[in-house]
Amino acid sequence: MTRVHKPGNQFIGPKLYTRKETRTHWDAILAGLPLPLKTYCRRQGLYRQDMILSVIKHFPDEWQEWKDKVGPVIVKKCTYCGLDFYVNNPRQGFCNRWCYRQHWRASNPGWRGDRYVKVASRDGAQDPAG
Ligand SMILES: [Zn+2]
Repeated sequence: MTRVHKPGNQFIGPKLYTRKETRTHWDAILAGLPLPLKTYCRRQGLYRQDMILSVIKHFPDEWQEWKDKVGPVIVKKCTYCGLDFYVNNPRQGFCNRWCYRQHWRASNPGWRGDRYVKVASRDGAQDPAG
């Protein structure tokens, strides 16, 4: 997976942890087995994708050894940009909020710039991207 830059230089992509942070989390995950990685991440408020990519970056050998035991590790293709990503939940279809928003805007012509201009047929609609 490559990181994606969006227009305006704003960095978009997974946030990777330092080697030290990753070590701490990864040790806790392994110590907590058979609880899956996703449970740990949910409890700690971490994104599963960030955690997985951090482990792959800092401890690739250990990831190879343990990835089947800390599962499920689900890889999907982003609906918008087409990159593979690790899902945070099984219904996720986009690699990040930016892709989600771009896709949503493309299919919702009510958008003008950053504002949602209400049109009669979409009265009461909420911006799901928040
Ligand atoms: Zn994407």
